[in-house]
Amino acid sequence: MIYLDNHATTRVDPRVVEAMLPFFSEAFGNAGSKGHALGEAASDAVERSRESVATGIGAEPREIVFTSGATESNNLAIRGVAEHPRRRGNHWVSVQTEHQAVLGPLARVAKHGDEVTLLEVEPFPSKHAGWLDPQKVAEALRDDTVLVSVMLANNEIGVLQPLAEIGEICHARGVLLHCDATQAVGKVSVDVQKLGIDLLSCSSHKIYGPKGVGALYVRRRNPTVRLEPQIIGGGQEVGRRSGTLNTPGIVGFAMALELCLSELPTEAQRLASLRHRLWAGLDDRLKNLRLCGPTLGAEDPNGQPLRLPGNLNISFGNVDGEALLLAMKELAVSSGATCASAEPGPSHVLLALGMGEDQARSSLRFGLGRFNTEGEIERAINLVIRGVERLRELSSLK
Ligand code: PMP
Repeated sequence: MIYLDNHATTRVDPRVVEAMLPFFSEAFGNAGSKGHALGEAASDAVERSRESVATGIGAEPREIVFTSGATESNNLAIRGVAEHPRRRGNHWVSVQTEHQAVLGPLARVAKHGDEVTLLEVEPFPSKHAGWLDPQKVAEALRDDTVLVSVMLANNEIGVLQPLAEIGEICHARGVLLHCDATQAVGKVSVDVQKLGIDLLSCSSHKIYGPKGVGALYVRRRNPTVRLEPQIIGGGQEVGRRSGTLNTPGIVGFAMALELCLSELPTEAQRLASLRHRLWAGLDDRLKNLRLCGPTLGAEDPNGQPLRLPGNLNISFGNVDGEALLLAMKELAVSSGATCASAEPGPSHVLLALGMGEDQARSSLRFGLGRFNTEGEIERAINLVIRGVERLRELSSLK
């Protein structure tokens, strides 16, 4: 099996597993049990991990709330701000191409009577397809805007949004900025200070760490972000998220992020060149392919890359993406977004780019990652070509 679905989730790195193991059956104490050595050991490990995760994104340890993953972090950010009595208005701004874990909480806010503006992105086909022009954010802000939520890297088309510019615009108007950075943290450099982000969501299982653990960064100063907790109980995480801390998960998450950051520059280059080979290998031998999302290697107006290095999304003309998936049993890729398993029909992200339904249905998302090799990419090219040719032959017989 060739695994090219690293946006859905990643294999846990053996070094991460090793770091986690002692916290299952040796230092298994509850991090909240302050009275004995086993509790202290767990608590120390959690605090070291908190420091490490904070440093990895330019934050302070006190600003990190551990959660069960990015879905929970997004819910806590958006619904936590919405339910706080001191929020400043009733208007919210986000983007049509956000993940459902942002769109869902925003829909809930709208159901309770608030107004949500979902901005459009640059249409397909263009060099910048999927990119959000920061000017659109500036134009959407109002005196009663509470919060803007923009993802850093898109999970389907890998487009990287101009968060630094958006951060400046929001701060000048006193509006909070939330960023779902689930697909970006560990893959591109992320610094909440430089980007002007007030709330940031991330997740361990996208970066070779375990599933079911993530974090929300909550800015403490300039401005102080006030959240209404969504999970109430024993008051862990300074009351912001109750529940016994997942010590092995948190330790694994921190280790996973440390490894990603230490390998980031070389890994980004390696993945970009594997991705280039995959696209070139398919485009050379198959007709009627369209690249969904921004041009590979393209940069934004500030010279920043426009796309995650490991992301490729291709529309295979006259081929149904689902059928193609079934035709390539040895290859793990995804049609549309895996995370949208509850969302039948074509991807809302591709439709937001202005792609037709058939074109969106004929697309596949490839997510390259740490464990992929050149040999696997060559084999994947052959598998996809064989699959597409077979399906095109069948449809021409109809
Ligand atoms: N946001 C984005 C951009 C994602 O890709 C995902 C994972 N599919 C999530 C949020 C949800 O993350 P988690 O699985 O940790 O809840």
